[in-house]
Amino acid sequence: MMRLPKFEYRTPQTIAEAVKIIGDVGPEAQFVAGGTDLYPNMKRRQQTPKTVISVMRLPELNQIIGDGRHGVRIGASVTLTDVCENEIINRDYPVVAHAAKTISTPILRNMGTIGGNLLLDTRCNYYDQNFEWRKGINFCLKKDGDVCWVAVGSSKCWAVQSSDLVPVMVAIGAKLRFASTLGERVVDAAGLYNDDGIEYLRKRPDELLVSIDLPSTNGWRASYHKLRRRGAFDFPVLGVAAYIKNEGDIVSDAKIVLGGIAPSPVEIKEAATALVGNALNEDQIQIAAEAAYVKARPLDNTDFVYQWRKQMARQYTLRALRELV
Ligand SMILES: Cc1cc2nc3c(=O)[nH]c(=O)nc-3n(C[C@H](O)[C@H](O)[C@H](O)COP(=O)(O)OP(=O)(O)OC[C@H]3O[C@@H](n4cnc5c(N)ncnc54)[C@H](O)[C@@H]3O)c2cc1C
Ligand code: SF4
Repeated sequence: MMRLPKFEYRTPQTIAEAVKIIGDVGPEAQFVAGGTDLYPNMKRRQQTPKTVISVMRLPELNQIIGDGRHGVRIGASVTLTDVCENEIINRDYPVVAHAAKTISTPILRNMGTIGGNLLLDTRCNYYDQNFEWRKGINFCLKKDGDVCWVAVGSSKCWAVQSSDLVPVMVAIGAKLRFASTLGERVVDAAGLYNDDGIEYLRKRPDELLVSIDLPSTNGWRASYHKLRRRGAFDFPVLGVAAYIKNEGDIVSDAKIVLGGIAPSPVEIKEAATALVGNALNEDQIQIAAEAAYVKARPLDNTDFVYQWRKQMARQYTLRALRELV
């Protein structure tokens, strides 16, 4: 049985208290929300904070406010179940509710939060193993070792960004609000993720994610299609988020974002170029899907044969765009 290491558990009641604790304790501390990612990582000794600070009792992080007309603010500690079941999110942002519903199982969604999902650790077959297994291969670059077993000559870690909500938030242009003892900072979801499996977030460890701001639903539509082995529950090994805005019959803005194939979400700019200025018809969709296929370069560090996952980038882009016709 894998046991948690010893740690101190803190339960601040306000944002100011939470950011003060992490500011005082420093790099030995880490925030926890539902713990569905952090605690298994601690059991496997991949992350070993000495102080764990719960963000579940901060009232501002537990609310959903607004509507599609003005934009919606979702607190970072709102559970995935509440995101799935919220009436306004289902009505005005069905793509967000749908992507959240594809995450793991109902039990995990009762614990896991939207904030934890957006800040999820990256994944790799050589990393998502217990301590003894990883010791057996002399560890790897991401934790305790000095070689990457996926690309042996590489000085970079290729562990995969595997959240279902990340490509959706990037595609629809959500903004994330952070707090620390230095004040507040708002970043575009697209700017948060870094193409490195170790330094996968452009955020300081002492920054608390407070909320996620969804833009007003001003004439855009979006879809999300997820590839996984088991339909009942599994991480995405490819996720395609498609976003389209129309002026009349013509596409005026578009984004295709792939998740689950690289350390950060991959925006397919060439696909957007093919779509913008044209009607959303089968010819344009085929060109966009081909662009996604060309740009997708999944690696051999997660489920399925990676060459097949590359082929699926074309198929899933076709499906995501056809849903929006
Ligand atoms: C069996 C299993 C299946 C899963 N399947 C999927 C899946 O299909 N799709 C998917 O996307 N994910 C999946 N997950 C991953 C994960 O459980 C979910 O993404 C969940 O939403 C994580 O949320 P959490 O609140 O539990 O995060 P936590 O474990 O509490 O935190 C995750 C990370 O975020 C940080 N953090 C959390 N909240 C904040 C905050 N407010 N400010 C700053 N830092 C913060 C923590 O320090 C930690 O680094 C799965 C996990 C398991 C165990
Ligand atoms: S990609 Fe390489 S360095 Fe990163 S977790 Fe996998 S084996 Fe380790």
